[in-house]
Amino acid sequence: MAAEVGTVFLVGAGPGDPGYLTRRAVEVIADAEVVLYDRLIPPEALALAPPQAELIYVGKDGSGAVPSVSQEETEELMVSLAKAGRRVVRLKGGDPFIFGRGGEEATRLKEEGIPYEVVPGITAALAAAAEAGIPLTYRGLASGVALLTAHEDPTKAERSLDLQAVAAFPGTVVLYMGVGRLAALCAELIAAGRDPREPAAVIERAGDPGMRVVRAPLGELADAAAAAGIRPPALTVVGAVASLALAPPALGPLAGVTVTVTRAQPQAAELASRLRRLGAAVVEAPTIRIEKLPAAPLDPRPYDLICLTSPNGVEPFFERLAAASLDARSLAGKTVAAIGPGTAKALAGRGVVADLVGERFVAEGLLEALDKAAGRIAGRRALVARAQEARDVLPKGLQERGYAVDVLPLYRTKSEPLPPPLLAKALAADYITFTAASTVRSFLSALPEGGKGLREQSAAKVVSIGPQTSAALREGGVEPDREADRHDLEGLIAAILADHGG
Ligand code: SAH
Repeated sequence: MAAEVGTVFLVGAGPGDPGYLTRRAVEVIADAEVVLYDRLIPPEALALAPPQAELIYVGKDGSGAVPSVSQEETEELMVSLAKAGRRVVRLKGGDPFIFGRGGEEATRLKEEGIPYEVVPGITAALAAAAEAGIPLTYRGLASGVALLTAHEDPTKAERSLDLQAVAAFPGTVVLYMGVGRLAALCAELIAAGRDPREPAAVIERAGDPGMRVVRAPLGELADAAAAAGIRPPALTVVGAVASLALAPPALGPLAGVTVTVTRAQPQAAELASRLRRLGAAVVEAPTIRIEKLPAAPLDPRPYDLICLTSPNGVEPFFERLAAASLDARSLAGKTVAAIGPGTAKALAGRGVVADLVGERFVAEGLLEALDKAAGRIAGRRALVARAQEARDVLPKGLQERGYAVDVLPLYRTKSEPLPPPLLAKALAADYITFTAASTVRSFLSALPEGGKGLREQSAAKVVSIGPQTSAALREGGVEPDREADRHDLEGLIAAILADHGG
């Protein structure tokens, strides 16, 4: 029997910043079996695909580093994958139906009788306008907007643009593509009747920390863009609104600074959002993934002391209680110890206030806290709930203090290679942050020459959360530029602020 035909999702990923992904886009990427992606996809969008998903690059007119795939080949591939029963995400920059050949692809799918869904995205013009602070329509200045594409190739006989009509259009004109022949385009628009003094702007790499905006009257725009060395991807806005600059000024102590976060989800999100609130641009480049181990039932009642060594462990710990038909009440009367404030916070989210919280965020810190509280702990049976692979400092230290210790592995960390464009973006940041030894190892192993490759390929400063993480960096041949004084997110951010300010 033939396999059931798979669905194809024509998904717009927005331009540059993964923040432009819609919720529906995130949902279908996370559920993809195959992702066919273009050149201008935000790398973080690819990182949302499940680890077992196949990622296939089908970009056109690249730098030559990767072979170009023709539109025909892409459509064939998409159709044959769907016919083989695969769930395919066809991921495009911006919106799939704006100069993205999404229309052609949908036509083909319809002809082949393949089920498909179109997930719209934020097209480059909208993101570029927002970031440059150019409202594309504005009462009294522009009552309409035209999105047009300029030919990259001036030798092409057929013209897609009726320049007379464009010149006569009573509103804002946005030209996609064509920055390579901007001088000719502007001259043609002026020859067709557009005023050379009309405000205009070129916006390069909207949505990316490296975005640039060049403004000049239409007659001078090409020279100004050439002088600034503007390169694709970029688009041109022509019209009175191009004189407006309503982008809010970059605010916060880290404005203009790009920081790479190598943490695994879900904690990456907290660090990233704190950094963004300080004005930083953040590249999320998780090289490890947390995998929960199968949840066997746990009865905590025999233990006097229960230690949780990471926020990652809190959810699986409670799942195990639930598997035994128990809840937080089964922890009554026991001493619950958290390795640091992050873990304590995760516990608090479950309604449990930790009795002991390590101040140093490492096993040694928790042992110190235990020593201070020694008299208050009733018995000598301890449970250490933690990652599958972890240092033995805590269980050993507890044994030395006379405890009978059981170790309960709750989850494991799995290395995950970064897609090359995401790695490149991560390396181009001003700071690369590391919050765990495991992340250091998987990040360095993703580089062609390990730790040596890091310094050779990146001018970024390396910031470590604490001694274990720094030791892993040194083992990989990288001397951290900064180590946090407090070994938590607060401390890590303070280290970046100190470095940036000083
Ligand atoms: N479907 C896409 C457009 C693809 S055509 C969309 O809806 O945005 C590619 C052109 O889009 C580029 O030549 C450039 O003009 C524009 N573009 C794409 N990403 C851009 C970005 N980040 N900044 C500025 N222009 C961009």
